[in-house]
Amino acid sequence: MHCPFCAADDTKVIDSRLVAEGDQVRRRRECLSCAERFTTYEAAELVMPRVIKQNGNREPFDEEKLRAGFRRALQKRPVSVEDIEAVIHQIKHALRATGEREVRSMVVGELVMEQLKKLDQVAYVRFASVYRSFQDIAEFRSEIERLEAEPSARKEPAASKEPSARKEPSARKEPSARKKPS
Ligand SMILES: [Zn+2]
Repeated sequence: MHCPFCAADDTKVIDSRLVAEGDQVRRRRECLSCAERFTTYEAAELVMPRVIKQNGNREPFDEEKLRAGFRRALQKRPVSVEDIEAVIHQIKHALRATGEREVRSMVVGELVMEQLKKLDQVAYVRFASVYRSFQDIAEFRSEIERLEAEPSARKEPAASKEPSARKEPSARKEPSARKKPS
């Protein structure tokens, strides 16, 4: 392989290992002329299903777009590039595993949400708010409530339930009829 720095004809492989759960080979190469080092990745080229947009248009699956979306959602969040690459890999795998030639864009969206949720809950909520804002506000709100109720660290449940901690039933209910017919 040619050297990308000085365009010399010959570079040698100094390290080679499997990455992405064995689906890629990562090679460290060194130029014999300028001694610069660089990395190449080799992967089988598999056909991804096409994506059916909301308006019915078909588009090729765009990995770069997906990557850009993850980076945007994970801006200033403590998530490594490797972790992002790993979820992109998983999403592609899941899409191929459908065995379909075409998948709806919503299917891709749901996979993104699922992976984002595992990566970073703050980014997930941020993304979900945009993604679902006009789709299902109630669902989004209940998702936030669920996340808030869920302790971030896995706590053991309290050893004994105290009956005194019960909520008073509907003591705060206010009359909902604020609007008066004019
Ligand atoms: Zn070189």
